[in-house]
Amino acid sequence: MKTVALALLVAVVAALFYYPTFVHIPSTEEVSGKTAQRAATPTLAMSTAPSAQPQQTNAESESAAAPAGQAPTAPTASAVASAVASPSQTPPSSTAQVVELPPATGKKVIIVGGGLAGMSAAIEAIRAGAHVDMLEKTTRWGGNSEKASSGMNAARTAAQIKLNLKDSVEEFYKDTIASGHGLSNEELVDVMTKESASAYDFLTSFDIDLNTVTKLGGHSRARTHRPSEKVAGNVGWEITSTLSKYLATLPRDRLSMKLGARLTSLVVEDGRVVGVKYMKRVRDANGHETGEELAELRGDSVILATGGYSRADDLLRKYIPKIVDLPTTNGPFAEGDGIKVAEQINASLIHMDQVQLHPTSFVSPKDPLAKTKFLAPEALRGLGGILINQDGKRFVNELDTRDKVTQAIFKNCKPLMVEQEVNGQMKTVVGPVVAHLIMTDEAVKLFPNLQFYQAKGFLRGFLGVEELAEGLELPGNTLKQTFAEYHECFVRQGNCADPFGKKDFPFGTRSNDVFHAMMITPAIHYTMGGLEIDKEAHVLRAAAAENKDEGDETVEAPTTTKEIIPGLFAAGEVTGGVHGANRLGGNSLLECVVFGRRAGRGAAVTSSASPSATPVSVV
Ligand SMILES: Cc1cc2nc3c(=O)[nH]c(=O)nc-3n(C[C@H](O)[C@H](O)[C@H](O)COP(=O)(O)OP(=O)(O)OC[C@H]3O[C@@H](n4cnc5c(N)ncnc54)[C@H](O)[C@@H]3O)c2cc1C
Repeated sequence: MKTVALALLVAVVAALFYYPTFVHIPSTEEVSGKTAQRAATPTLAMSTAPSAQPQQTNAESESAAAPAGQAPTAPTASAVASAVASPSQTPPSSTAQVVELPPATGKKVIIVGGGLAGMSAAIEAIRAGAHVDMLEKTTRWGGNSEKASSGMNAARTAAQIKLNLKDSVEEFYKDTIASGHGLSNEELVDVMTKESASAYDFLTSFDIDLNTVTKLGGHSRARTHRPSEKVAGNVGWEITSTLSKYLATLPRDRLSMKLGARLTSLVVEDGRVVGVKYMKRVRDANGHETGEELAELRGDSVILATGGYSRADDLLRKYIPKIVDLPTTNGPFAEGDGIKVAEQINASLIHMDQVQLHPTSFVSPKDPLAKTKFLAPEALRGLGGILINQDGKRFVNELDTRDKVTQAIFKNCKPLMVEQEVNGQMKTVVGPVVAHLIMTDEAVKLFPNLQFYQAKGFLRGFLGVEELAEGLELPGNTLKQTFAEYHECFVRQGNCADPFGKKDFPFGTRSNDVFHAMMITPAIHYTMGGLEIDKEAHVLRAAAAENKDEGDETVEAPTTTKEIIPGLFAAGEVTGGVHGANRLGGNSLLECVVFGRRAGRGAAVTSSASPSATPVSVV
């Protein structure tokens, strides 16, 4: 009871200082009495509140293919809207927020990275009795996790059951393995899919609304959970801001949170990870930042939750150079730091050349060469968006998996030629390979946050197919024929010979419809490679070929074994192996929760006296 009372007191104090931007978790320094006054002043860089909604600045989503329960006959706009399943009542939520913490065990866990994997790990480690130190290099919590807007996958959840949506862990497992094209680590996928419903329960126990369930590309069932339309934020924002609020209520003797703390190396003693070195920001007496200084933190174990390497040009150039110059949907912090520091202590890296390109990021007419792109949510294609090339033709099943749609764009579309001033002279520069994403007015209006995209200038409206062809400089007759054939498939609801095998046709394309056109290009979106882990989220050491006695004829090839690195755990996008060659939309948030929680629990009980260095054999 004492703990609960203390937690409530801290919550009230924190709320007083930080409301209404409560989702900002103050760093320990900010919360301490010494700096409480400073924290209230706007000059303190580290207390800069996050903007209202991250998805407003980079709204994006995973693939939303056919909404769950889509009507087999020609649907109306309202039918499609309601087919995105959402139960009328919220499944009962538990009161996990006020879980009484067990007495402190004295164990100290250091977690690096303030996205969903780090937050999930922190909650579990604290609930297992550990003290947690969280480090985050930027000035806000959330990472790429807060950008997610399609949702989190889970099978056999309360929401699915309530909506009478059939699914099973076995089907989810099969879909994930199939998507990974034979590269996924089956044991990790097994754990992730089996614990998906429990990950859903974990998040909904914080009253996070995950009641809307959709079927994304590559899934055989509707199992991607996100908030219902009445909730203002996207799924990533809802999750990270809610967990942030929860973390902010925890007693500071159980959790210390440092913003502006950038991990630079791991401290290893006797083969065991016992701490981290990091750069911390230094301020003068007025609170102005004056630079950085090196600091060291010691603990019983370290969890790396630093996210992926979509913004690490050095790693991309080393492992998959052909994509280095492509734009990306990721935040600038996705620099692969956790991978680099762990590699310094001989951690095993896996699938580093596997990087997911999202087929559709917006090309802004105002800045077509920008490196950072806003994601064009796959819900746009799920709601009936059609991809057209410069010949006025379709070239792919718009609802196919990301890798296939991406390849089709590169194969069938042309680069944009951009007029740019170079050294005072106008020159033509080769821009990104682009396709036109076309939607009818009816379809586009179903998309949430439409105004945001309109305000950014990503959509151009046209009345009728002729005006559209003229505006986009496409051959009019070909475009008319493309739309006529597509409309026929819509009328027959897929009972047609669509050349690309599309089965779901939410909207038709009549020649006099109002059309909206968006220019899109593939962008680096997610890095499947990373640190190799076992199912308990231990980081594995790079394999060393076993010594083979000279003249020993019995062993054909050198065998390799991989051991865990004692004291080192990892979870989330910093790891590799789960998704193989292609991540299914919605599986990353799930991976963060499942392996983040496992890492948190494991790190909280790991003992510095007896390192749990169980050998793991690797094929
Ligand atoms: C636009 C977009 C939309 C997406 N939509 C979805 C979706 O709908 N569903 C889904 O499942 N997935 C989605 N994803 C993928 C998913 O959001 C991410 O893969 C996942 O959230 C990564 O979580 P994480 O905790 O591993 O890393 P992050 O959330 O990226 O957090 C990592 C944190 O570590 C910090 N960090 C990095 N290096 C250091 C260092 N040296 N020291 C200290 N801190 C450091 C970073 O600043 C960052 O805050 C989307 C991704 C993007 C970019």
